[in-house]
Amino acid sequence: MDIENGDNRWFSRRPEEGEEAQWLKESSQPNRKFKFQARQGRKCKMHKGSCNCGAVSFTVEGDLAPPDACHCSQCRKQSGHYWASTDVPDDRITIHGEDNITWYQASEKVRRGFCKTCGCFLFWDPIHHPRIAVAMGAFDGATGAKLGSHIYVADKGGYYEIADGLPQNEQ
Ligand SMILES: [Zn+2]
Ligand SMILES: [Zn+2]
Repeated sequence: MDIENGDNRWFSRRPEEGEEAQWLKESSQPNRKFKFQARQGRKCKMHKGSCNCGAVSFTVEGDLAPPDACHCSQCRKQSGHYWASTDVPDDRITIHGEDNITWYQASEKVRRGFCKTCGCFLFWDPIHHPRIAVAMGAFDGATGAKLGSHIYVADKGGYYEIADGLPQNEQ
């Protein structure tokens, strides 16, 4: 199967070192199909994202876990509203331009990453766990993911209501 879905492409196997750069170059040409040779029979979907200025970009391999929307005061202050993200295992994300990320140590266990040039809040990283939360707003094109729940609703702002029928967790 070799299909395109928005900006994302299916691969017949995981790209190897060096091939990702080629894929990024190729994918900048709209409507161009790009296919790796089948070798291991594994299908992977690649999702791309970036900050506003492009100094930081990333690719995530595989389907995205259902995102949650966090209404905690830190996410609200950092994003300007509430913040939706998806949890990605560390070994499924490749970050480009990490030198351009400022990591704000929000607590002993968590750091928050944003572009030091344009300020986009991209990552929420629980440093002792092998996963990272990636901002849904940073992905380019359709991801196929749908919001799954709201969290830290106890801290939500008073200027909006949550009315989408999704589960709401106080914490
Ligand atoms: Zn930027
Ligand atoms: Zn939060």
